Amino acid sequence: MWIDTHNHFDAPDFDLNRQKKWQQAQALGVSAQCLMGVRLGDLSRQVRVADELPDTYFALGLHPLFVGELVLDAAIAVLTHTIERYLNHPKFIGIGEIGLDGRKAHGGKLSVPLEKQCAFFKAQLALAYDYDLPVFMHSVKAEDKVLQYCKRVGVRRGIAHAFGGSEQQARQFITQGFKLGVGGAMTYPRAKKYQRLIQTLPLSAFVLETDAPDMPPVWIKDGANQVSELPRIAATFAEIRGVTPNELVPVIWQNTGAVVPAIAALNCIKISM
Ligand SMILES: [Zn+2]
Repeated sequence: MWIDTHNHFDAPDFDLNRQKKWQQAQALGVSAQCLMGVRLGDLSRQVRVADELPDTYFALGLHPLFVGELVLDAAIAVLTHTIERYLNHPKFIGIGEIGLDGRKAHGGKLSVPLEKQCAFFKAQLALAYDYDLPVFMHSVKAEDKVLQYCKRVGVRRGIAHAFGGSEQQARQFITQGFKLGVGGAMTYPRAKKYQRLIQTLPLSAFVLETDAPDMPPVWIKDGANQVSELPRIAATFAEIRGVTPNELVPVIWQNTGAVVPAIAALNCIKISM
């Protein structure tokens, strides 16, 4: 009944008991999950994991923090080839995780120079445009620039994962055709700004995610985030918004289906019973 629109369940963190953990998550009400691409060398592992697990979809892309060692043309050629190979695969859903990360590491420097991140982002947006695919975006301290590129390339469908911008930026993302991915970050009591966004923006703007094994919600004190936390994340979202989880299910389902038609084809009611 819930869909994890963004995670990294193919990560080695889950190698020992991936099958069992997915069964547990499904038993708790996670109907489907979307695995995001990160590193060029890991894309085939990601597809393999998606193929092995039921109701598991995948987006292909290069995460902005993992393009530092890559040569643009060669990497994009491999990615393009991979995308073309899976274009008709029933579990392939789009381009991601792509975007920009403006967080400074120690010493005040970006871990990957912004210029390089932008070059990869632009090239991958162009792929999304050319193949008419939605994008799954990583946008950290670079919301305006991410939007600017999306507008310039003409990409109008996707999810801004772990959205952390202002209300004005959120509304611009929505106008551009994007949903906002909400997960562990909103569960922290200090995340007041984020919680206000959840209360004020149209409910049609949101989808849910775990980003597992990253972005643990406040109740995980130690260890990796899990896909099975999604129902509790959904319940927290419902509480902040002032609706019941049951009221939320069809809306979130519809919002997700607008980005990922393959998931819209599943039946949320049937799966939730
Ligand atoms: Zn991610």
